[in-house]
Amino acid sequence: MTVGILVDYEFCTGCHTCEIACAVSHDLPNDRAGVVVHHEGAWEMANGKWQDTYLPVFTDVCDQCAGASAAHDGAPMCVHHCQADVLRMGDAEELAKELVRKPKQLLYTLA
Ligand code: SF4
Ligand code: SF4
Repeated sequence: MTVGILVDYEFCTGCHTCEIACAVSHDLPNDRAGVVVHHEGAWEMANGKWQDTYLPVFTDVCDQCAGASAAHDGAPMCVHHCQADVLRMGDAEELAKELVRKPKQLLYTLA
């Protein structure tokens, strides 16, 4: 099974809690984590709408919370602590089916 993380970035608030949860649970330096949140915007487009998107990017530091002390009740720490509930980890093939359900989603496949 290929493990994937599905991100519904339309509703990511940019709170960075996923980053902090990963770094703390894995005892990482302040500038490193298995997930890092990037921000594009905010700037106004010609049509008057605003570009303002937060995007969690999974890095090679991510070990899928494989260590027994990392995960919380079986859920990866980033998933568990995301209050907007926009992260899901699971079988990448199953998660891929969700991509057509709504726009502004992204699927990572993890090594
Ligand atoms: S799955 Fe675990 S190791 Fe990977 S980014 Fe989330 S908290 Fe970090
Ligand atoms: S914890 Fe959730 S809402 Fe907050 S930045 Fe991470 S993915 Fe986005």
